[in-house]
Amino acid sequence: MKKSRVRVLLIGAAGRMGKTIVDFASRAPNIEIVAQCDLGDAIEPAMKNCDVAIDFSHADAIEQICRAALLATASPSSGGQDRPALGGLVIGTTGHSPAQQELIKKTAQSVPIVFASNFSIGVNALFALTHNAAEILSDEFGIEIIETHHRMKKDAPSGTAKTLAEILKKARKIDKEIPTRSIREGDVVGEHTVVFTGPGERVELTHRASSREIFARGALRAAQWVIGKRAGLYTMRDVLGLRICSGAL
Ligand code: NAD
Repeated sequence: MKKSRVRVLLIGAAGRMGKTIVDFASRAPNIEIVAQCDLGDAIEPAMKNCDVAIDFSHADAIEQICRAALLATASPSSGGQDRPALGGLVIGTTGHSPAQQELIKKTAQSVPIVFASNFSIGVNALFALTHNAAEILSDEFGIEIIETHHRMKKDAPSGTAKTLAEILKKARKIDKEIPTRSIREGDVVGEHTVVFTGPGERVELTHRASSREIFARGALRAAQWVIGKRAGLYTMRDVLGLRICSGAL
């Protein structure tokens, strides 16, 4: 039987990630971008006419997105009365304030949401490796995170650096902040290094992204995965079935 295509609403469609997703989806046989929204567009009507919404825009869009997602989840699908109009939401945007993060958590009580600071498989492996290294390398080893991105990136530190810091704090069972350096230069897509410095030795774990397609591929995989899941807040770890570093963001 032919599988039907997943109908996607893309928010932030005119941006760097938005354009990459449109391009990637045009080559994916099972995905159809049925609506594209950017600054100033009404999200609510588009949200009721898609299977899943993907957000790569700006943190300030989140109030409008959550309101629209709650309404669309409460409305029946035009194709069948027993399922909601919206099957789920994928949030890739970073830089949310604590209040905005709370709003996402509250919305996830009614809507299945995948919220991930980084959709690349390699970075999610880096998350797991960082957790393991922090456990193996004792408190004698100091820790630092270094992240580098292109000059146009709006938030610092990056969402990925914040996730790495959360993982390190959990693995070390500490509350104090992890020193993080943010470098903005050129057209760097994204680089993250975790440095463990001990007496007479140093361990560095680095991930380098050279193409935004890795995020597009992961976000579309998350979009297909989240449809039909129970309401809740999921991460890329759940999508990939990674059981390591549980409890971290
Ligand atoms: P960008 O600035 O190139 O694009 C953002 C787009 O969103 C722009 O077209 C802008 O007009 C639009 N926008 C801004 N406010 C909006 C609103 N209220 N409603 C609708 N659209 C709005 O940025 P980008 O490089 O494409 O990144 C977008 C976001 O995704 C950033 O927060 C970035 O950190 C994040 N990001 C996440 C991942 C990941 O894997 N999770 C990867 C790359 C980028």
